[in-house]
Amino acid sequence: MKIPKTHPRYQSLKTREQIVVGVKNGITSIHGLLAHGRGEAFDYLLGEKTHTFGKKAIEASAALLVSSRYPAISVNGNACALIGKELVELSGLLNCPLEINIFHSSKTREKNIRKYLERYGAKQVFLPQKTCSILHLGSNRKYVNKNGIYKADTVFVPLEDGDRAKALIKNGKKVITIDLNPLSRTSQAATITIVDNIIRSMPLLITYIKILKTKDANFLASIISVYNNKNILRNAEKALRT
Ligand code: ATP
Repeated sequence: MKIPKTHPRYQSLKTREQIVVGVKNGITSIHGLLAHGRGEAFDYLLGEKTHTFGKKAIEASAALLVSSRYPAISVNGNACALIGKELVELSGLLNCPLEINIFHSSKTREKNIRKYLERYGAKQVFLPQKTCSILHLGSNRKYVNKNGIYKADTVFVPLEDGDRAKALIKNGKKVITIDLNPLSRTSQAATITIVDNIIRSMPLLITYIKILKTKDANFLASIISVYNNKNILRNAEKALRT
C-alpha cells in the first residue's frame, strides 16, 4: 500500500506496512502482528518520541556493547522485518554474530530471515543447534549456537519475551533489550531496557556506538557504572501514566 507522506500517521502506518510485508515474505510470524499492535499502543501513549530515559539507555547499551568481550545479536521475525538492515550494520560495527531465534519455530522462516540478513551483507548469521542449549528455559528457544549466544557475555535481544530474557540472565549473560512496554517481564528482567520504538532507537544506537568506539575503557565503564535500569523503568512508567 502506498502511504502519502502527508498522512499524519505516516511513520506509524509505514512501520505497520513493513511488518505486514514481513509476514507476506515469510520472515515474520502472523502472531508478530499482535506483538506489534501492543507496541503501537505503548508508543501512542509515549507520544511516539524518544524520551530522555530512552536516550540514556541507548548510551549505556552502546557502552556495554562496545566494552563486551563477545557480544551477540539475537534476531526474531519482527526485528528482522523492521530493522534487519540496521542489525547487519550493528553486527559489522561490533564485529559480532547475528543469531536467529524465533518464538514460533519454523525452519523455513529461519532460512528466510538468514537470506534477508545476508542480502544486506551479514557475514555471520548463526542458527540454533539442537546440540547446544542454555539452562532454565523449557521451550525450543533454549537452543543456541555454540559460536554465538552460547559463548556471548552480552546478548542484544530487541523485542524479546520474558522467559527467554530471564533465562539468558540466569545463564550469566548481560541482556540489552528494546521494548516499548516498561512493565513487560522482558523490560523488568533485562540489564538495560531501551523503552522506545525499535525503529527510532536502532539508528540512535548505531550513532552512539560509532562515537563510543573511539573512547577508552575507563570512559565506557563510567557510563555503565552510573546507569540504573530500575530508575529508567520508573521514569518510563511515569511518562506512560501522565
Ligand atoms: P513479556 O513476556 O516480556 O512480558 P509480552 O508477552 O508482553 O512480553 P511479547 O508479545 O512477547 O510481549 O512481545 C512484544 C513486546 O514487544 C511488547 O512488550 C511490545 O510492547 C514490544 N514491541 C512491539 N513492537 C515494538 C516496537 N516496534 N518497538 C519496541 N517495542 C515493541
